[in-house]
Amino acid sequence: MRNKIVAGNWKMNKNLSETESLLRELSAKLPDTDAEVMVAPTFVNLSGAVHCLESSIIQVIAQNMHFAESGAFTGEISADMLLNIEVDTVIIGHSERRALFGETDEILAKKVKAALAKNMRVMFCFGEELGDRKSENQFNIVESQLKNALFNLDADSWSRLVLAYEPVWAIGTGETASPEQAQEMHAFIRNTISQTYSADIAERVSILYGGSVKPSNAKEIFSKPDVDGGLIGGASLVADDFVGIIKSI
Ligand code: PEP
Repeated sequence: MRNKIVAGNWKMNKNLSETESLLRELSAKLPDTDAEVMVAPTFVNLSGAVHCLESSIIQVIAQNMHFAESGAFTGEISADMLLNIEVDTVIIGHSERRALFGETDEILAKKVKAALAKNMRVMFCFGEELGDRKSENQFNIVESQLKNALFNLDADSWSRLVLAYEPVWAIGTGETASPEQAQEMHAFIRNTISQTYSADIAERVSILYGGSVKPSNAKEIFSKPDVDGGLIGGASLVADDFVGIIKSI
């Protein structure tokens, strides 16, 4: 059985008091669920969020980290710094990091390796751009993103990986991949992992879909057999919407 996961990526939104108030509202409204529920506030509010969620099942995860242990990397955060404030899961490879901050597959491979070396869990994001989909190149792109950042890992590392397929054309655009498009890509991803590693590893890895998931479309997307949950941007900033999505899993 694979873990079902609903994670909210809050990006550069919410100050500390807004973070605490959204977390209090979420905790109060959280439905009974078998799914893991995660939120990723901005770095400065991670510690406050951990404190606020002490007796909650909601996990606090980070949006990014640096691959180095420590040193002269102004503005960066290390794995140890996250672990020290009880954050043991990190998102790596979000399309905004790739597009706006120049994070290449090579950099992402180093980040994944550094996080796993510290026993962290990694939520690895990837997905094709609109032009790739229009030219029907989406499978090649996704395969090369996986190959370049993950397929050098040993088999044991896969128990600490979660994948998030996020077609760039569906992120923050209101445009969602159809449930059939999501299923087709998730099945392709699982099959690629099965061929590269083993059927067992492929069966166990959770693959989330991300891209304009809302309460109104979540149920249909989550009903697909290879979709194990969602990474949610905009809708995770509104408690009722995020709760509605969690209820859909
Ligand atoms: C995201 O940024 O990971 C995301 C899926 O955003 P949105 O839900 O707003 O499209």
